[in-house]
Amino acid sequence: MKALEKIIGVFRKFPGVGPKQAERFALYVVRASNPEIENLVEALRGVKASVKHCSECYNYAEGDLCPVCSDPNRDRSLICVVERPQDLAAIEKAKSFSGVYHVLHGAVSPASGVQPDQIKLKELLDRVRAADGAVKEIIVATNPDADGEATAMYLIRLLKPYVDRITRIAYGMPLGGDIDYMDEVTLGYALKGRVKI
Ligand SMILES: [Zn+2]
Repeated sequence: MKALEKIIGVFRKFPGVGPKQAERFALYVVRASNPEIENLVEALRGVKASVKHCSECYNYAEGDLCPVCSDPNRDRSLICVVERPQDLAAIEKAKSFSGVYHVLHGAVSPASGVQPDQIKLKELLDRVRAADGAVKEIIVATNPDADGEATAMYLIRLLKPYVDRITRIAYGMPLGGDIDYMDEVTLGYALKGRVKI
């Protein structure tokens, strides 16, 4: 059954989906009603057409700016740098951060050959320089693994001439863990307990 194998192959590409789960998803699609399938197709097209990157921080946005950057009450002197939009979402859920973000969309990785110009580092530098001294602190919230550390080191070198205070979240972070897997309380502490680097 070529069509079934094809849809299983599609689901297999989803993050965290194994062969068994891909098969379950595919069988759900087979059983679903036509209107349900129409809804699914429409939702996929809609999200692809309307969700872009925020022109300020590269978070996902429906429109020019993401919800954080469109909020006039956020403190623009404080930028928290994360690897992925889901890290930003995790920090937002913890409700202990009032600044803005910058999403790198990856990490510098000497091991897998990801170069600084393949992530949104230059965009961060441009943003900080354009702010002309208005950015008072950069909080580096990359993952506490080898790539996250390499990225943090690179960020320090890049931004030191423009920002006085560069900090790294540290407190209670499980080594090798992903930020979006941390619970809200731990993440709140991690932010509060940040240290200057
Ligand atoms: Zn934004």
